[in-house]
Amino acid sequence: MSELERGFSGFSIQKYDGPPGFTSMGENVAVAKTAVALEEYLESLGLENPVPEKILEILGGAPRAFTPYFTQALDNYIRAQKFARQWHDGFLAGVQRRQQEGVTEDEARAEVGAQIFSQIADGKTARGLIHPKMQGPVLVLMCTDEQDYLELYDRGKHEESPGVAAKGSAGFYRPEEDLSIFGGLPIHTIAFRIPKEGKFPPGELDALLRHELQHFIQRVALGMFTVTEGKVDTVGLGAVKDELLAHLRDQRLYQSLASFPRNEIYTKLFSVLLDTDNAVAREAIGALAKYLDSYAEVLSSERERAVLVYQLSSINMGDFPRWLTILARYNQMHNPERYPPPYTYVTMP
Ligand SMILES: [Zn+2]
Repeated sequence: MSELERGFSGFSIQKYDGPPGFTSMGENVAVAKTAVALEEYLESLGLENPVPEKILEILGGAPRAFTPYFTQALDNYIRAQKFARQWHDGFLAGVQRRQQEGVTEDEARAEVGAQIFSQIADGKTARGLIHPKMQGPVLVLMCTDEQDYLELYDRGKHEESPGVAAKGSAGFYRPEEDLSIFGGLPIHTIAFRIPKEGKFPPGELDALLRHELQHFIQRVALGMFTVTEGKVDTVGLGAVKDELLAHLRDQRLYQSLASFPRNEIYTKLFSVLLDTDNAVAREAIGALAKYLDSYAEVLSSERERAVLVYQLSSINMGDFPRWLTILARYNQMHNPERYPPPYTYVTMP
């Protein structure tokens, strides 16, 4: 075992109903790359069933000890996908029925959007249009009216406080909840507000979607990788980490990740932390921001950042500074052209 690997195996990865601890950085990298490949494959399917042979081929990239945990993640994802498919079938049937009654498809879709809004917002009526659309196993609601969006945000059991937070946000993820509209099936929702200009600047919607889908992945499908801070919850370090990893995947936000604790949208995330946890979170964010700076070119790739997200998801935030230093050394050793400048956040013995 090399010095590097010995250093890595010294980390205490708590077993939180999750994958076994990594014994080497190489293993951690292999698991993260496998997770990204799996995610890409599942996303490409939309609502289609995965092909078992293809899944086995992808999982072949990770050590076998991790197979049960990937299988568990896959089960969670497929469950969400199954309900989404039933939900979508009901939605399409409803739209068709209305079309037969002489309503246009757009109108029929808008009617369903209004019904969904009303159900989430305790019977209130939407002021503007709510466009519903399936994004794989997640229902996306696009709101044309700001008040409608804020209403959904307030009802969305969202972790950050409404008011300032809601007004400053462009989208949010709402964990699985039964919507009785198509037989009471549990469905995950992401809501966005369409900008006043009527459309999103180029790339903005993709970045928003990636951000909110990361919350979905973290909480549902691959939530079991959140082994270090306990489950992703509405408060605590788990919630900060969830937001941090979503920022890392967000093309709009990853470069300004260091300022995220000062963003008033997230005030509540930090204000409820114990002083010691607050220090841990800020140190971890500082270390990550410096790592992003040091490898700005490589990490401008969304895929590279996705791998980093999966790597970090199983590392305790308190270990980020030391772990990122080891990761940089590992990358320099295996890929010196792409990771040239030495990154050091903590002095290694
Ligand atoms: Zn977020």
